[in-house]
Amino acid sequence: MRISEETIRRIKYVANIEEVVGDFVSLKRKGSGANLWACCPFHNEKSPSFSVNPAKGIYKCFGCGKAGDSVGFVMEIEGLSYPEALRYLANKYNIEVEEDRFDPEQLAQRSQREAILIALNFAKNFYQTTLHEHETGRGLGLAYFKERGFTEASVATFELGFSLPEWHGLEQAAVQKGYSPEVLEKAGLLVTKADDAPGAPTKRYDRFRGRVMFPIHDLAGKVIGFGARTMKSGEQPKYLNSPETEVYHKSEGQKRHPASRQCLPGRGLHRRDRHAPGRGGQCGGLVGHVAHRGADPARPAVY
Ligand SMILES: [Zn+2]
Repeated sequence: MRISEETIRRIKYVANIEEVVGDFVSLKRKGSGANLWACCPFHNEKSPSFSVNPAKGIYKCFGCGKAGDSVGFVMEIEGLSYPEALRYLANKYNIEVEEDRFDPEQLAQRSQREAILIALNFAKNFYQTTLHEHETGRGLGLAYFKERGFTEASVATFELGFSLPEWHGLEQAAVQKGYSPEVLEKAGLLVTKADDAPGAPTKRYDRFRGRVMFPIHDLAGKVIGFGARTMKSGEQPKYLNSPETEVYHKSEGQKRHPASRQCLPGRGLHRRDRHAPGRGGQCGGLVGHVAHRGADPARPAVY
C-alpha cells in the first residue's frame, strides 16, 4: 500500500530536523549561528563538520557531503527505505498513516482479475445459450440434465450450460465480442500449446468441448470457473475442471457458493436421489445438506 500524498506532506511538515537528528547525535550551537553542529554520524571525525539547519529543515555534512531532510536522515542512519522512513517518522510524531487504496501495480492486478471474471461470465452466458438454443445443446446437454432429474428451474438457477464439440466455438464468439485471447486463456477457457516444430505457430483452442458445463461460483455468486462432464462415452477425462487461475484457487479450499458445490458434475445428484421424484435435481433443497461435505470439484464423485 502506498502512503497517501497528504500523509507524506503532514509527516514532512511535522518532522522537525533538529529533533529527528537529535535522537541520534548530540547537536550543539556554535556561537550565534543559525546552524547546529555535531560530529558526523556517517563518517569518522574528531571535530564537528555535520550541520543541521532547523529553518531550512535540512542537514549537511561538510566532511563527507551527505545531506538531506528529516526523511533522508532517517533513511541514511537507519538504513530504511523511503516508505519505511516515513512510517518511522509517522510513529514518532503520532501521525496516522493514510494509504492510497491501490498502488498502480495493485490496480493493474485488480483490473486483470476483473477482466477474467467478466470473461468467465461471458462464457457462462455463452454455454447457457448453447444449452437452450443450439440443437446439439438441447439434444445432448438438456437431455442429459433431464435424464439426471434436473428440473428446468434448477438448470436455470445453477446456470448450467453446454459446450459444443468444437475447437474454436467459444474463442470465436468471445474474440468477436472484443475479449482478448490472453484474458480468455488466463481465465482458463482457452488452451495454448506450442507446436513441436520450430517456428510453427502456437495452437489455441477451447478447453471445454462437447461437455455439460457446471459453473463454479464464489460466495458473491460470481462465476470463477467451470466443472465439465464429457458427453462422449469413453472420453477421458470424464470430468474436466478449470485450471488454477487468478480467480480460482483449488488448493486453498476457496469458499464457493453452496449452490455450485451442490451442482458440480457428479455431485449434482446423488445416486440414491436420482429416481426420487421431486427430489432429483432439486439442488436448492439440498444445499444445506451438501455444503458441509466440502465437495471438491477437482475430485468429483462418479455416478
Ligand atoms: Zn560526514
